[in-house]
Amino acid sequence: QRQYLPIFVSIFHLLCRRSIQTSLFFSFKSTILDGRLLPDRHSFLAIYRDNNIVIVVGETGSGKTTQLTQYLHEDGYTSYGMVGCTQPRRVAAMSVAKRVSEEIGSNLGDEVGYAIRFEDCTSEKTLIKYMTDGILLRESLRESDLDHYSAVIMDEAHERSLNTDVLFGLLREVVSRRTDLKLIVTSATMDSDKFAAFFGNVPIFHIPGRTFPVDILFSKTPQEDYVEAAVKQALQIHLSGLMGDILIFMPGQEDIEVSDMSGFIPLLVAVLPIYSQLPSDLQAKIFQKAPDGVRKCIVATNIAETSLTVDGIMFVVDSGYCKLKVFNPRIGMDALQVFPISQANANQRSGRAGRTGPGQCYRLYTQSAYKNEMLTTTIPEIQRTNLANVVLLLKSLGVQDLLLFHFMDPPPEDNMLNSMYQLWILGALDNTGALTPTGRLMVEFPLDPALSKMLIVSCDMCCSADILIIVSMLSVPAIFYRPKGREEESDQVREKFSVPESDHLTYLNVYMQWKNNNYSSIWCNDHFIHTKAMRKVREVRSQLKDIMVQQKMNLVSCGSDWDIIRKCICAAYFHQAAKLKGIGEYVNVRTGMPCHLHPTSSLFGMGYTPDYIIYHELVMTTKEYMQCVTAVDGEWLAELGPMFYSVKQAGKTEERQEGSFQFQIRAKKLISHPSAGF
Ligand code: ADP
Ligand code: MG
Repeated sequence: QRQYLPIFVSIFHLLCRRSIQTSLFFSFKSTILDGRLLPDRHSFLAIYRDNNIVIVVGETGSGKTTQLTQYLHEDGYTSYGMVGCTQPRRVAAMSVAKRVSEEIGSNLGDEVGYAIRFEDCTSEKTLIKYMTDGILLRESLRESDLDHYSAVIMDEAHERSLNTDVLFGLLREVVSRRTDLKLIVTSATMDSDKFAAFFGNVPIFHIPGRTFPVDILFSKTPQEDYVEAAVKQALQIHLSGLMGDILIFMPGQEDIEVSDMSGFIPLLVAVLPIYSQLPSDLQAKIFQKAPDGVRKCIVATNIAETSLTVDGIMFVVDSGYCKLKVFNPRIGMDALQVFPISQANANQRSGRAGRTGPGQCYRLYTQSAYKNEMLTTTIPEIQRTNLANVVLLLKSLGVQDLLLFHFMDPPPEDNMLNSMYQLWILGALDNTGALTPTGRLMVEFPLDPALSKMLIVSCDMCCSADILIIVSMLSVPAIFYRPKGREEESDQVREKFSVPESDHLTYLNVYMQWKNNNYSSIWCNDHFIHTKAMRKVREVRSQLKDIMVQQKMNLVSCGSDWDIIRKCICAAYFHQAAKLKGIGEYVNVRTGMPCHLHPTSSLFGMGYTPDYIIYHELVMTTKEYMQCVTAVDGEWLAELGPMFYSVKQAGKTEERQEGSFQFQIRAKKLISHPSAGF
């Protein structure tokens, strides 16, 4: 029987390949509205009616995100369920929902709404819902058939975000179960054949693009400082006297903030930053028309690559870099790092200059770097990041063997096993790889596994009310601010909150004092604390509290017994421990890798350097910095993380050598993964 197998396999391959080739292609004329080119409604709807799954391909700015939802709504699909549209980025979900609600002429949150983590701006009335892909993934936990939706548009599929890739596998099944659910997958690039094949040779709808030629100018030599080079280039464009707005691509927020645009004559140029953490009122400014005679210069992360379209850009300046979350084996976890972009990114970026007329793109890298050093496309996130959250989610959806789950591009097996191992350490999976009751409870929280674990243990340790505040504070970025010219003053005020042994407790302290001051915004301003951020913390706290109440978890405070809180934090973060080595220097207990206290830490420069600390996360800049640390007892590490550490009574000789150390915490060598049943 065996000898027939290869024949079957090759026939199967032939069939598959054939059907890919014959996969249907549609291409239709577009409609022009207020000078905008939009997908042709009738031809789109005709294909849509006849097929449950359609792939839509069109240039950025062709109306995929803002128009398709409205077409479906106007054609009556929303009468039996919402039209949902997923975005890989929070900013895009919010900004696009706002735009569409304006186009429809309703208030944001009524007919058109959005949902991102910890922020639900929808109502009973909502018919078109924009959301992050993470939100839809979590909704599928509660409602595996997504019964509230008549159609789902998975937008920006070319980005291949982790959650989008997982949704691909899940939605493929949902559509086969629910014949009344429609699925649209959109992409700005031509990788659509792969999508079409994955969903069973479904039709591809092409929105014809109308683009203008873009001159591409490469740098003759590699640039050492891309921020400086970008600013110089933008100035040169400005001084050349040519008309048109400028779009600069930088890897991250820090680069955008440090880029010094003071060389521009302020009245003639409006410098507008855009990145995900920017407050939304400032984000909206990039879309506003500049006054006559004023040139817009937008400085963006790769959010402006395909997610958001600004019309009128004539010049693009491309640093050639972006920030990616990548699993770093040296530290055993994900880290955001700056990487060269791919050729696909580069081409998308230059395309932004040719939307409304002929344009120019200045690439701050050499042609040879583009040809020889850049990847053709970026590696999908699922193949480069930690999958702990995905594993937890899929396990709770009943996917037993994750290696058999239908991924478009399966993650490397090592990566999957490593993530499972992390969940095993936290007690979310048992020795056979099955979800434990703790794991099941962890899934309920829209948090990273270690944070959910911390909330769960805090109930047993009777400090859940306090840990809830700490977790909420950790879920909101940028609590403190340090205005230019008032750095010292703000640092001094900040020091007043410092709890010498813990940044986590410092956060708790800030929140408690804010609460004691009746959640006052004046108090925030006086203490260099962002009021908006604190309000967000309060909101996050209340949402997490609701989940805890729902799960019958008791909320109690341990009062001023802060040692209990430190021990509780240790119970969820013992795998991220560092040990004092020399004056003010730390090394990771498990890997021996040097890591440094962040200058903003309460422990920094206080003269108090505990022997052991745990950290919330590592940030890689010039050095490896531990961000948000707490002093812990060595014995706690051994008690709570027995798979890593043991307490060894030091022998006499050792004691002499080691000075006054009574105990020595030994990092256990792990011989193999406890992956018996994985
Ligand atoms: P796609 O998703 O195909 O990239 P969009 O639907 O986002 O395209 O955008 C279609 C067009 O709508 C853009 O070319 C732009 O002209 C306009 N547009 C989209 N969002 C905004 C906004 N917030 N403000 C002004 N115009 C916008
Ligand atoms: Mg779009």
